[in-house]
Amino acid sequence: MTFTEKCENPLKPECEGGDIAVYIQAGSKRLPICRSCWVMLAEQDVEWDEDGIRLKGELTSSTDRSS
Ligand SMILES: [Zn+2]
Repeated sequence: MTFTEKCENPLKPECEGGDIAVYIQAGSKRLPICRSCWVMLAEQDVEWDEDGIRLKGELTSSTDRSS
C-alpha cells in the first residue's frame, strides 16, 4: 500500500505539493513540507517549535493542545 503525502505547509494551505523535502515537528503534528515551500520557508524568517510555526516572531499557526 502506497501512501502519498501532500504538503501541509500551514503558511500556504492551498499547496498540494507532493515532493516532500522535510518534515516540521510542530507540537503533536508532523507536517510534510514540499520542496518549493521549504525554499519559501528558508527564505523567510520562519521558526517552529512545539507550539506551532511562527513567521518573524509572530505566531501564525498554533496547534490544538487539548491534552
Ligand atoms: Zn508546499
